[in-house]
Amino acid sequence: MRGLPWSNPVKYVKNVGPKRASLLSRLSINSVGDLLYHFPREYEDRTQLKPAHAYDSGVRASIRGRVVGAEESKPRKGLTITKLALYDGYGLFYAVWYNQPYIKKQLHEGTWLLLTGKINRFMGQIQLQVLDYELEDGSEALYTGRLVPVYPLTEQLSQRVLRAAVKSALDEWAGGLDDFIPVSLATKYKLPDLGAALQMVHFPQSSEDHRAARRRFVFEELFLQQIIMTMRRNTIVAVKKDHSYKIKSGLEDQFLSSLPFSFTPGQRTAWEEISLDMDAQTPMYRLLQGDVGAGKTVVCVMALLKAVNSGLQAALMAPTEILAEQHYKNISKYFSSLGLETTLLTGGMKKKNRQQALEKIREGKTGVVLGTHALLQQDVEFKNLAMVVIDEQHRFGVKQRAVLQFKGHQPDVLVMTATPIPRTLALTLYGDLAVSTIPDLPPGRIPVKTYFYRHSRMAGVYEKILEQVTMGRQAYIVCPLVEESEKVDLLSAVELASRLSSGELGGCRVDLLHGRMKPEEKETVINRFRDGLIDVLVSTTVVEVGVDVPNATVMVILDAHRFGLAQLHQLRGRVGRGRYASICYLISDARGEDTETRLRAMCQTGNGFLLAEKDLELRGPGELFGTRQSGAVTYRIADPIRDIRALEVARKEARELLLRDPVLGRAEHRSLLEELKNRFDKDLIFINVG
Ligand code: ADP
Ligand code: MG
Repeated sequence: MRGLPWSNPVKYVKNVGPKRASLLSRLSINSVGDLLYHFPREYEDRTQLKPAHAYDSGVRASIRGRVVGAEESKPRKGLTITKLALYDGYGLFYAVWYNQPYIKKQLHEGTWLLLTGKINRFMGQIQLQVLDYELEDGSEALYTGRLVPVYPLTEQLSQRVLRAAVKSALDEWAGGLDDFIPVSLATKYKLPDLGAALQMVHFPQSSEDHRAARRRFVFEELFLQQIIMTMRRNTIVAVKKDHSYKIKSGLEDQFLSSLPFSFTPGQRTAWEEISLDMDAQTPMYRLLQGDVGAGKTVVCVMALLKAVNSGLQAALMAPTEILAEQHYKNISKYFSSLGLETTLLTGGMKKKNRQQALEKIREGKTGVVLGTHALLQQDVEFKNLAMVVIDEQHRFGVKQRAVLQFKGHQPDVLVMTATPIPRTLALTLYGDLAVSTIPDLPPGRIPVKTYFYRHSRMAGVYEKILEQVTMGRQAYIVCPLVEESEKVDLLSAVELASRLSSGELGGCRVDLLHGRMKPEEKETVINRFRDGLIDVLVSTTVVEVGVDVPNATVMVILDAHRFGLAQLHQLRGRVGRGRYASICYLISDARGEDTETRLRAMCQTGNGFLLAEKDLELRGPGELFGTRQSGAVTYRIADPIRDIRALEVARKEARELLLRDPVLGRAEHRSLLEELKNRFDKDLIFINVG
């Protein structure tokens, strides 16, 4: 018996070779294991073989036929049409290929073929525009006459090639695979054995087959993740940190009394929980969640302060430069009034400034370091990093979190997120984190009125913007997000900005912000907006997280249906941050129950937790509230919402198993441990072991 081939290069699989292997690597398929775990995205039902005359024009058809003749024509330059005449037992039909001249050489008269394609009828002829074909040579039919797998592809790689590669990998490996799921669990939950499940997921004999296979792989995925999380949690609890916080002076009180507001009850509780964790002997590993605008920043500033005040270093990492700059602006203001130095580190910095910053950090001359991914670079070294805060943590991967963490020695870790997830789900998704929640918004916030409008009502929207600008307020207009192409995003934003400033919003100072701008340019624009020098900011989604301009009162989101609930909620969170009443317009012409329910839900509530629950219920296509992008875990096949029951079962079984065998040392768990080591970075399993 052997384990899954995670370290066997895919290029050695029959039908692959180096050239196809490099195409496969674009799909992150590098090993045979990756190939076997490249699951079909759907199946095409080609079980119904009928003669050609039984199909109507335009439909998809699967037909068996014998080649009786071939011809090739070149109606114009660059176009070769290959046409085979085939006999299906009743009559003739024609199979057609475009620009595949080798077909004619491959398929000889008398050969029986299985073909799938689209039927075209004209002038009494039946033509099949071929999508897939296969020689019927007595071997098991792969492409036709059955449920056929349809894989996620990349350019230059066809379904045919991928199917053949997967088939070869299965032939070579699926027999004799050691199943790492304990037998007792496989029996209890009626899960097919690993080798059989792989066969069934790729080439199911029936839809029952692929359901059973899916059940297994979902369980497998969730189970392994829960094992990792539980082990990680257990390790954290077992480790002792070697720093401790000794508050020297009343800086915290000074800070609190310098704030123009007092903490909300939720902020107070969260800070108490964090502070207790920091005083504990084991490192903190805590998630701070709170709705957009709940005031997470000041809570984490308390933690930074506690570190600095004890002569230790603290770092805060944010996902965008805009956000990092903004944190720097706010926090350095607080800290300089307390006589403390703050250092900013971002990717866009000049070399010399960067060197100076690095030196200060290394020598411990600066206590608080704020930055972006730039903090993760290898030459960033800390003297005594004790406290790590990660803002908008769902934007980072587990690994990135770990890299920052490893720059200290058992530092305390606080991760923050504004995409709230329902409590039950939080427990299962963040199995390795303790969770603090700020359930309330600061008092006095006026709920943002939200409207879902068709494009035809834009005139009224512009009027509202003009009215608000006249009153001294500001507005955002967020342009549609086109996933495939940043370029298109950009164009539409640029065009819109220039059109508006000379047209509908003539007289307003309109400016533009987008992701392709240089960091300095972005900063300039944001600063000008913040300083009130821009009235209307036309933007791509770069304003999504964190931007805080309390004077802005109108948020217009164009083609709102293109955004997930989480993102819409984040975007809306850019307004309603000050003492003025604010409005959010969701503009969309999209029809469809899902879309409309989603946008209506936005209009009905401003509460992120309620929206999260709504999303859980709706599960429309597209992004879901803070789970898939949670950064806590990524999923190949499971869907933590739809498979919530499997998730709960996996969690329970993982915990029970680890209670009996905490480090998986027993012989019967050897292959399970082996599989974990293969799939997960060792660093991640024992994340807090120095
Ligand atoms: P988020 O939780 O989304 O990160 P921020 O920390 O950016 O929210 O806070 C949003 C705004 O609310 C900031 O302008 C902040 O100064 C303000 N704020 C935070 N806490 C309070 C409070 N207790 N009372 C009033 N305003 C607060
Ligand atoms: Mg924030």
